[in-house]
Amino acid sequence: MKTLRVILWDQLSHDVSALKELDIHNDIVLMCELRSECTDVKHHQKKLVFLLSAMRHFAKELEVKKVKVHYVTLDNPDNTHTLITEIERHIVLLQPDSVCITWPGEYRVLSDLRALQKKTKIEILADDRFLATTVEFDAWAADRSNVRMEFFYREMRKKYNILMSNGKPEGGKWNYDAENRSFPKKDISIPKTYTSEVDTITSRVIELVKENFSEHFGQIEPFHFAVTRNDALKALALFIKKRLPLFGDYQDVMMIDEPWMFHSHISFYINAGLLMPRECISAAEKAYHRGEVSLNSAEGFIRQILGWREFIRGIYWLKMPDYKSENYFNASLPLPDFYWSADTKMNCIKQCVTETSENAYAHHIQRLMVLGNFALLAGIDPQDVNEWYLLVYADAHEWVELPNVTGMILFADGGYLASKPYAASGAYINKMSNYCKDCHYKVKIKNGDEACPFNYLYWNFLLKHHKLLKGNQRLRMIYASLAKMSKEKVDNILSDADRFLSQL
Ligand code: FAD
Ligand code: SF4
Repeated sequence: MKTLRVILWDQLSHDVSALKELDIHNDIVLMCELRSECTDVKHHQKKLVFLLSAMRHFAKELEVKKVKVHYVTLDNPDNTHTLITEIERHIVLLQPDSVCITWPGEYRVLSDLRALQKKTKIEILADDRFLATTVEFDAWAADRSNVRMEFFYREMRKKYNILMSNGKPEGGKWNYDAENRSFPKKDISIPKTYTSEVDTITSRVIELVKENFSEHFGQIEPFHFAVTRNDALKALALFIKKRLPLFGDYQDVMMIDEPWMFHSHISFYINAGLLMPRECISAAEKAYHRGEVSLNSAEGFIRQILGWREFIRGIYWLKMPDYKSENYFNASLPLPDFYWSADTKMNCIKQCVTETSENAYAHHIQRLMVLGNFALLAGIDPQDVNEWYLLVYADAHEWVELPNVTGMILFADGGYLASKPYAASGAYINKMSNYCKDCHYKVKIKNGDEACPFNYLYWNFLLKHHKLLKGNQRLRMIYASLAKMSKEKVDNILSDADRFLSQL
């Protein structure tokens, strides 16, 4: 019996479900570099190098294990460049008895595969690299009108017995975020992020991307991402040793020219399949039990993977396809050019866009409280915002990008995912970063040409959406202080916001 086993570019795990029962003598693994996947969303050039090089390395590893791999390169003249046509072509070419594939990371691909299933027998296997199944998540969410990560996370801690002590959360609390808001001293030494050598496979892919996708956003070089599991494991080990000890304390901090801070930089590896979420959690838990990291750091990091990552994925599959067109505030402003060029006087945005272009990476607070906050306050069209986030980050795949953008930053689902909009004035950015000191605008000034735009845009947002938000309990105090504002102040806010937004 010959099975054709199809592997996608985010399924580069040796024990992914499509490879679990692989018969080395008869089965064939199919991997294709598809122009449609590279250009339907014009991904960051560095992201393309990472994914294509990781695919090529993965195929080589399979071949070393004597697995038969049918690898279709981008420049193969027979390549039809879409997943479904390539599967169909290889069914004719290789005449397998059966075909299987692991559940994809995108609803569109799943729909295409389901349509194909009507014509040909292809088995879609669950993706068991995640810690919660979609069925499990749907059951948990079933009777809730809105869902909160914190409660889901507690269930996952109990289910996997992670940071638990006699049935209770380690240290007595489930969440240590309150301890995670320090700002480092000026002379803090931030460890270097992991850097991998560029080998011949990667340098060929760099040339390929330059030849084919040079008009895409972002810089390719320097390229130092891991492209194999072995190197990704080294990146994980380096994080656990050097950065995790201070991850908790400084996870919300943003500093000029410090893109990596104390974060792990492993999302691209986990999402592509080079690292398993379970092993990342376990590495952090072990470091805590060895006494190498504090509880607030270990718990903070584990919550991101066991809590947020799983929760976000659950929401995606529960809410698609309608989730893609959510627009609670009817936001319609086109994405401003400075999200591509970084050409803006707002230093916080300039820093975050520049780093995104250089690294195909920005850490969570940059994505959430600077770039996302601005998109929310300015009322940018969710379609544009989603497209931008999906193409600029090396870790972006629709299952994880969409709920983070639509639900978390834009509140476009009306509060299904988040209990209140993550809206903030310049004061928050000033508290958690050193961006404001080098900015053209003055963060302490509330109105007028010199004022930080986040200040009046924040109040303008609350005024504009009063009807939709006034019932939100978590905004009660803010609306109470808004009610006390003089008419003159409100008028200034509205006219400043109008002037600023009309210039965009
Ligand atoms: P760390 O800060 O070190 O966190 C550890 C790990 O936790 C990450 O590697 C990631 O796997 C996981 N994680 C943390 N937060 C989240 C979250 N909210 N959702 C899912 N996983 C999480 N993450 C992506 O992987 N792909 C995306 O396309 C993506 N888009 C985002 C868009 C917006 C608007 C926001 C606010 C967040 C987005 N995130 C996304 C989540 C988060 O910002 C990134 O996972 C994180 O910045 C990756 O860097 P890191 O590996 O250094 O993470
Ligand atoms: Fe950003 Fe305002 Fe600070 Fe400038 S002053 S960096 S625009 S928050």
